[in-house]
Order: sequence, then C-alpha cells, then structure tokens
Amino acid sequence: MLTLINTNRMVPPIAPIGLEYVAEACGRAGIEVSILDLALCEEPAKAIREFFSRRNPSLIGLSFRNVDDCFWPSAEWFVPGLAQLVRDIRSLSDAPIVLGGVGFSVFARQVVEFTVADFGVRGDGEAATVSLYRQIENGRDFHSVPGLIWRQGGQTCVNEPAWPADFSLPVRRNMVDNRTYFARGGQCGFETKRGCNRLCLYCADPLSKGSIPRSRKPAEIADEIESLL
Ligand code: SF4
Repeated sequence: MLTLINTNRMVPPIAPIGLEYVAEACGRAGIEVSILDLALCEEPAKAIREFFSRRNPSLIGLSFRNVDDCFWPSAEWFVPGLAQLVRDIRSLSDAPIVLGGVGFSVFARQVVEFTVADFGVRGDGEAATVSLYRQIENGRDFHSVPGLIWRQGGQTCVNEPAWPADFSLPVRRNMVDNRTYFARGGQCGFETKRGCNRLCLYCADPLSKGSIPRSRKPAEIADEIESLL
C-alpha cells in the first residue's frame, strides 16, 4: 500500500492537486492507495497516530507545497515542521518516506538532507512514484526513477527530473474531498499545462515543472472538470 499525506495546513486551504494526480496514477497502475489529508484534520497529531494504528504501508509520500508563507512580517519557514513530521511518522511506521510537491521541488536536495527523509521526487510525480514503488517492492534500481533524490554509500544522488513534453494526467478527481475545500473558502484547481519559459523572479514554477511549456489535451481537461462538478 502507498500512503499519501497532504502536509499543507495553510489557510485558506488549497486542495492538494498534485497529491491527487499521483494517487490516481498509482491507483491506475494497480497500487493500493490511502490518503491522509492533514489540512482537513482538527487534530493532526492524533489523526496521524490513528491512521498508522490501522495501516501498514510499503511507502509513505508527503506532499510539501510551501517551503515558507511568502509573507515578510511572519516569515514562517515550514521545513523544520516537515522534519518533525518525518520523525513522528518514523516512530509509527517502518515504511520509507518520499517527499514531493511544488515547494519541495524548488529545494529538493536540500529539503531531503534537512529532513533526513529517505527519498524525494523533483518534478512530475505520477510516473516517478509508480516507478519508486516498484523499485522498493523488487529491484531497488533507483537510478531509473525520474527526479529521485536518494542515498547510496553515504552520498546523496540526484536523478534528472521527468518533465515529459507529451504528458497526460488522470481525469478522475474523487480521491480528495475537494467539496470541503470549496466549502471552507479554499481553492480546488486543475492543471491545463506544466512548465514555463518566462523568468519572473518570484515564481517557483520553472524550477518545479521545467522551463518548457507543456500543454494537456483540451478534452482531457474538460473530462477532469466534469468529474469535479
Ligand atoms: S508561471 Fe511563473 S514564470 Fe511563468 S509567467 Fe507565470 S509567474 Fe512568470
């Protein structure tokens, strides 16, 4: 089983779109997926304890959307909290932990080293997570997993990210409680493209999704929106 955990608890809440795409892609590949959405939990620590008392996953993925709150008066930095979460989960499960997400991908290697997580995936996570899960199950050839940050002989290894020009995303969006996000005044998004060739100084997208624009097929996007209605 793959467990995916949304770690972003900023408000207004932003539905974890990347986590949901990864969940659907893994489900389509025949991997059993369970999701713990900490943004919708009143007591996250209690929710984590209860969750792992009932499940024994083979791999745990933590989505990390924001490294900080982008607000100079508070200047809150979320990486120490992520490191604490990794330690808390390790006390409850022996499964390896992989980090991913847009914020994570900006400083992928540094965040893996700071948090001492087992793995990280920079860039598109759908095929990479399926590949990592398969390699953990049998093989352990981590060179072949796109965008993977991993360790070998005490060294941190960094694979080239997967930013395929021709990409397709799942269109079914019912693994995350998107309606509750909407009801709480948050956002429920969908991606029409990934990557950007502009150089806006403040923007993380080219670092996380590549510097070449990649468009999805319009019919696929329409099907996805329909599944959200
Ligand atoms: S995605 Fe980012 S880099 Fe591209 S135009 Fe928008 S703000 Fe600028």
